[in-house]
Amino acid sequence: MNRPLVIGNWKMNLDYVEAVHLIQQLGVVLKNKPLEHVDLVVVPPFVDIRSVTSVVESERVALEVGAQHASVHDAGAHTGEVSVSMLQRLNVTWVLVGHSERRAMYAMTDEVVAQTLRTVVRQGLRAVLCVGEELSVREAQNDRDFVTAQLHAALEGLDEKWRPLVTIAYEPVWAIGTGLTASTEQVREMTEHIRTVAASLSLGDVRVLYGGSVNAENAAALVNEGHVDGFLVGGASL
Ligand code: PEP
Repeated sequence: MNRPLVIGNWKMNLDYVEAVHLIQQLGVVLKNKPLEHVDLVVVPPFVDIRSVTSVVESERVALEVGAQHASVHDAGAHTGEVSVSMLQRLNVTWVLVGHSERRAMYAMTDEVVAQTLRTVVRQGLRAVLCVGEELSVREAQNDRDFVTAQLHAALEGLDEKWRPLVTIAYEPVWAIGTGLTASTEQVREMTEHIRTVAASLSLGDVRVLYGGSVNAENAAALVNEGHVDGFLVGGASL
């Protein structure tokens, strides 16, 4: 098994005061826990990042800070966007790329996902590539082909030196924020498939996470029977 990784995606929740409160509470909870064998990341809204990293650094909370998205562009006339270098200046070390909510609600195409991933890793940040199918795709039994296509679109031709910076999160769209978790069997089958496709793209030891209504009750079974390297957690991370 790869080194476990758990990422909390706060989405568009918590203003900076609430974010400071939560990260301080997390700091207390994590103190004196045996965390040397696990990576933990929180992913607050952009406007909370500075406050959260200040607490993480001053109180030595054992986690890293990520961003939910980054612009595909390096700088310039892109109103409302945030660049990777701006995130880097805030000590952000991880960026979610192609979360299904960005793909579905903000027209993030496979092509933009691929370019954004390159923009992120070229500057040395870690990219969490999110893939996963809609319910209709699974019902039509096209889920594997769909995820394969997303992986190829994002990772084909990625320079060898950037590959260690990539993590893949399998997030079936029908399980995100719905309370419906994929069964451990469904998760195991898809994570094995993802590992096979990743290996064919020369990303042999990539970490594969699962996301979709993960919580304290179902996490252990998903690790033990789903064979994932960790989780991308939305609602329960709040
Ligand atoms: C997510 O935001 O990536 C996610 C998996 O959300 P939730 O855990 O709420 O389903």
